[in-house]
Amino acid sequence: MDPLTDSERDALSRRLAARREELREEVQTQLAKSEDPRVAGFANELAATEDWVLADILADMDIAMVTRDIAELGDVEAALDRVASGSYGTCSNCGEPIGWPRLNAQPIAQRCIRCQEAFEASHGKQGPPTL
Ligand SMILES: [Zn+2]
Repeated sequence: MDPLTDSERDALSRRLAARREELREEVQTQLAKSEDPRVAGFANELAATEDWVLADILADMDIAMVTRDIAELGDVEAALDRVASGSYGTCSNCGEPIGWPRLNAQPIAQRCIRCQEAFEASHGKQGPPTL
Protein backbone atom coordinates (compact mmCIF):
# COMPACT_ATOMS: atom_id res chain seq x y z
CA MET A 1 0.00 0.00 0.00
CA ASP A 2 1.35 3.46 -0.90
CA PRO A 3 1.76 6.05 1.85
CA LEU A 4 -0.57 9.05 1.75
CA THR A 5 0.43 12.05 -0.30
CA ASP A 6 0.48 15.43 1.42
CA SER A 7 -2.74 16.48 -0.26
CA GLU A 8 -4.49 13.26 0.72
CA ARG A 9 -3.39 13.73 4.31
CA ASP A 10 -4.57 17.36 4.25
CA ALA A 11 -7.95 16.35 2.86
CA LEU A 12 -8.42 13.70 5.56
CA SER A 13 -7.30 16.00 8.34
CA ARG A 14 -9.83 18.62 7.17
CA ARG A 15 -12.57 16.01 7.21
CA LEU A 16 -11.53 14.90 10.69
CA ALA A 17 -11.53 18.47 11.97
CA ALA A 18 -14.99 19.07 10.48
CA ARG A 19 -16.28 15.85 12.01
CA ARG A 20 -14.87 16.88 15.38
CA GLU A 21 -16.81 20.15 15.26
CA GLU A 22 -19.95 18.29 14.23
CA LEU A 23 -19.65 15.81 17.08
CA ARG A 24 -18.89 18.49 19.63
CA GLU A 25 -22.00 20.40 18.63
CA GLU A 26 -24.08 17.25 18.74
CA VAL A 27 -22.81 16.32 22.20
CA GLN A 28 -23.35 19.84 23.53
CA THR A 29 -26.87 19.97 22.13
CA GLN A 30 -27.74 16.61 23.64
CA LEU A 31 -26.22 17.46 27.03
CA ALA A 32 -27.98 20.82 27.15
CA LYS A 33 -31.31 19.00 26.83
CA SER A 34 -30.58 16.79 29.82
CA GLU A 35 -32.89 16.75 32.86
CA ASP A 36 -29.81 16.52 35.07
CA PRO A 37 -28.69 20.09 35.89
CA ARG A 38 -25.09 18.94 36.28
CA VAL A 39 -25.11 17.61 32.73
CA ALA A 40 -26.82 20.68 31.33
CA GLY A 41 -24.32 22.91 33.14
CA PHE A 42 -21.48 20.85 31.81
CA ALA A 43 -22.67 21.50 28.26
CA ASN A 44 -22.02 25.20 28.83
CA GLU A 45 -18.56 24.49 30.15
CA LEU A 46 -17.79 22.45 27.07
CA ALA A 47 -18.88 25.30 24.85
CA ALA A 48 -16.25 27.48 26.51
CA THR A 49 -13.29 25.14 26.28
CA GLU A 50 -11.16 23.68 23.53
CA ASP A 51 -9.83 20.90 25.68
CA TRP A 52 -12.35 18.13 26.13
CA VAL A 53 -11.45 15.55 28.70
CA LEU A 54 -14.82 13.96 28.30
CA ALA A 55 -14.42 10.40 29.39
CA ASP A 56 -13.17 11.32 32.86
CA ILE A 57 -15.57 14.14 33.59
CA LEU A 58 -18.66 12.46 32.24
CA ALA A 59 -17.95 9.04 33.70
CA ASP A 60 -20.47 9.36 36.52
CA MET A 61 -23.16 11.24 34.62
CA ASP A 62 -26.15 9.89 32.80
CA ILE A 63 -24.93 10.35 29.28
CA ALA A 64 -26.18 7.27 27.52
CA MET A 65 -27.51 9.41 24.70
CA VAL A 66 -24.09 10.76 23.84
CA THR A 67 -21.91 7.78 24.66
CA ARG A 68 -21.49 6.79 21.04
CA ASP A 69 -20.76 10.36 19.92
CA ILE A 70 -18.18 10.71 22.67
CA ALA A 71 -16.52 7.45 21.70
CA GLU A 72 -16.33 8.58 18.08
CA LEU A 73 -15.10 11.99 19.18
CA GLY A 74 -12.30 10.26 21.06
CA ASP A 75 -11.34 8.34 17.91
CA VAL A 76 -11.42 11.54 15.85
CA GLU A 77 -9.27 13.39 18.42
CA ALA A 78 -6.80 10.52 18.44
CA ALA A 79 -6.61 10.58 14.64
CA LEU A 80 -5.98 14.34 14.67
CA ASP A 81 -3.25 13.79 17.27
CA ARG A 82 -1.65 11.32 14.88
CA VAL A 83 -1.86 13.89 12.07
CA ALA A 84 -0.11 16.39 14.36
CA SER A 85 2.59 13.92 15.39
CA GLY A 86 3.17 12.69 11.86
CA SER A 87 2.13 9.09 12.47
CA TYR A 88 -1.25 9.39 10.78
CA GLY A 89 -1.82 6.88 7.98
CA THR A 90 0.64 4.37 9.42
CA CYS A 91 -0.70 1.14 10.87
CA SER A 92 -0.32 1.23 14.67
CA ASN A 93 0.25 -2.50 14.63
CA CYS A 94 2.64 -3.37 11.79
CA GLY A 95 3.92 0.10 10.81
CA GLU A 96 2.92 -0.26 7.14
CA PRO A 97 1.00 2.52 5.36
CA ILE A 98 -2.76 2.09 5.84
CA GLY A 99 -3.43 3.47 2.37
CA TRP A 100 -5.82 5.99 0.88
CA PRO A 101 -8.74 3.67 -0.01
CA ARG A 102 -9.18 2.54 3.58
CA LEU A 103 -8.59 5.96 5.15
CA ASN A 104 -10.89 7.62 2.65
CA ALA A 105 -13.62 5.23 3.75
CA GLN A 106 -12.64 5.36 7.43
CA PRO A 107 -10.49 8.41 8.30
CA ILE A 108 -10.17 7.33 11.95
CA ALA A 109 -8.64 3.95 11.03
CA GLN A 110 -5.46 3.28 12.97
CA ARG A 111 -4.71 -0.17 11.58
CA CYS A 112 -4.28 -1.46 8.07
CA ILE A 113 -7.05 -3.73 6.85
CA ARG A 114 -5.04 -6.89 7.51
CA CYS A 115 -4.25 -5.99 11.11
CA GLN A 116 -7.80 -4.76 11.67
CA GLU A 117 -9.21 -8.09 10.54
CA ALA A 118 -6.78 -9.95 12.78
CA PHE A 119 -7.70 -7.63 15.66
CA GLU A 120 -11.42 -8.17 15.23
CA ALA A 121 -10.97 -11.91 14.86
CA SER A 122 -8.98 -12.13 18.09
CA HIS A 123 -11.44 -9.88 19.95
CA GLY A 124 -14.47 -11.69 18.61
CA LYS A 125 -16.15 -8.42 17.69
CA GLN A 126 -19.10 -9.00 15.36
CA GLY A 127 -17.64 -12.38 14.63
CA PRO A 128 -19.66 -15.53 14.10
CA PRO A 129 -20.98 -17.22 17.25
CA THR A 130 -18.51 -19.62 18.81
CA LEU A 131 -21.10 -22.27 19.66
ZN1 LIG B 1 -1.02 -3.39 9.89
